[in-house]
Amino acid sequence: MGSAACSFIARRGASVIGIERFSRAHDRGSSHGHSRVYRESYHEHPDYVPLLMEAGRQWEQLESRVGSTLLIRCGVLYISTPGGQIHDGVLESASTHGLECRILQAEQLREEYPQFRVMDEYVGILEPNAGFIDPERAIQAWLLDAEQAGATIMENTPVRSWEETGDCVRIELDDGVVEVGSLIVCSGAWTSRVIGQLGVPLHPTRQVIGWLRPDDPGCCEIGRMPVWLIDTCGNEPYYGIPTWPDQLGPEGMKVALHGAGTPTDPDQEDGWVRPEEIERLRSEVLEHVPGAVGSMTHATTCMYTNSPDGDFIIDRVPGCDRTWFAAGFSGHGFKFSSVMGRVMSDLSLDRRTDLPIEFLSLDRFDPSRSGDDR
Ligand SMILES: Cc1cc2nc3c(=O)[nH]c(=O)nc-3n(C[C@H](O)[C@H](O)[C@H](O)COP(=O)(O)OP(=O)(O)OC[C@H]3O[C@@H](n4cnc5c(N)ncnc54)[C@H](O)[C@@H]3O)c2cc1C
Repeated sequence: MGSAACSFIARRGASVIGIERFSRAHDRGSSHGHSRVYRESYHEHPDYVPLLMEAGRQWEQLESRVGSTLLIRCGVLYISTPGGQIHDGVLESASTHGLECRILQAEQLREEYPQFRVMDEYVGILEPNAGFIDPERAIQAWLLDAEQAGATIMENTPVRSWEETGDCVRIELDDGVVEVGSLIVCSGAWTSRVIGQLGVPLHPTRQVIGWLRPDDPGCCEIGRMPVWLIDTCGNEPYYGIPTWPDQLGPEGMKVALHGAGTPTDPDQEDGWVRPEEIERLRSEVLEHVPGAVGSMTHATTCMYTNSPDGDFIIDRVPGCDRTWFAAGFSGHGFKFSSVMGRVMSDLSLDRRTDLPIEFLSLDRFDPSRSGDDR
């Protein structure tokens, strides 16, 4: 989020400094692992779709500025039962916003995608314009884009504290102070530490991801396999990303549970995965994608930063005049980073944005507001 914001601000001709405690595109936060699902028929809520339309445009514009492909639209296949949140949510967003989706009954699903083993009550929904993004490549692209437009990026530079003083914000670093006209905080799992006075709890969780070397490699290649997400009754949904020729990072098909995870302290997270966690992931995949399961080539962890309702929080920091934050991306934010960069640059430079983000404001947690008035 921060890298994209630097690019938008610099390209508007304003002066911007990006301050990162680790190195660029590191593996200590929420944005590593070489793939992030990009989908538009958003089962979480149709209100996200207009933001996704802009996100898609911004990804394509970034691709043409940096001259490389970042968003691979290989399709996403949702396998679920009618009545389930993912099934109904995808169809609601698709019909509300006129997005292309194709429904495949179980028999047709088995015929077109024989690598999946599904029972008769399952339905497939194929969203052809969805796909995935390599986050490390995308972050490097935003930073290159930002620097070409004049941004300064400081790496290995933790922000120790900050405060608004009159007409500027003072930021304390280990070896000095930086004074800026406005501050944007995009500090992921560390947000509650960087902003003391948020008033809403954010819960970082540890999520396990793994790469499987398929017994039948062809069955998991892009072209034959789309990105897939399986929502089985009562269990946590899990998903996989096909292998592709230009793949960086570990070998094999990436798989993960999109579930509750385990609470973690972001300063203690070391990426270690227990053998029983690897076994759980393998056995989930074995049940529905048997040919995909060979040995696990690599497994690690990454952090979700969960808001109380699973929706993002974009707002001004309470009690502040010129400090904004984007947080609580709850395990589904990466695809939006292209539009969030624009939102955050609008807020910091214009104090407002035309993009529809009202439903993500902090005041939805105000107990004096009642009902779902998103
Ligand atoms: C396993 C996993 C799978 C996911 N899958 C998807 C997916 O398929 N699709 C999708 O859209 N999203 C997905 N997400 C969610 C998405 O990756 C995150 O929502 C997104 O990356 C969050 O970005 P961020 O900028 O908020 O956090 P980060 O990328 O973690 O950035 C925060 C940055 O702030 C820096 N920082 C923190 N404190 C300080 C400080 N004091 N001083 C200086 N710098 C500081 C950190 O070092 C870090 O670089 C997934 C997440 C995980 C963990």
